[in-house]
Amino acid sequence: MPSSPKTARPSFRCDAPDNDYEQRRRKRAPWRAWYGTARWRRIRANQLATEPLCAMCLREDIVTTATVCDHIDPHRGNPERFWNGPFQSLCKPHHDSAKQQAENRVSRQGGRVNPATPSPATGS
Ligand SMILES: [Zn+2]
Repeated sequence: MPSSPKTARPSFRCDAPDNDYEQRRRKRAPWRAWYGTARWRRIRANQLATEPLCAMCLREDIVTTATVCDHIDPHRGNPERFWNGPFQSLCKPHHDSAKQQAENRVSRQGGRVNPATPSPATGS
């Protein structure tokens, strides 16, 4: 029985499109690695301890436990903003929607999506 030479194949092309996608995202945004640091985990834990409820849910008079420490202003890879905030606590659904909007704005600067839409306040 011949064993299939798995390692010899260009596995990134067929089996792991997500991984490839992640890698490209990381390349474009090296600050993603900062989320894995102990320093960030401490900031996040402190934020969630100080404000345990989702700020966006509270605006709708809904009480939801927050699980995400979010940057109120998009940090855009700026270390000052990344580490110093300001932060808010969000539930995951709110964080994901807010973050996607922020990232789409950042991506437009790089000319990846919707280059037709001008992005206001992209300066530093
Ligand atoms: Zn929420």
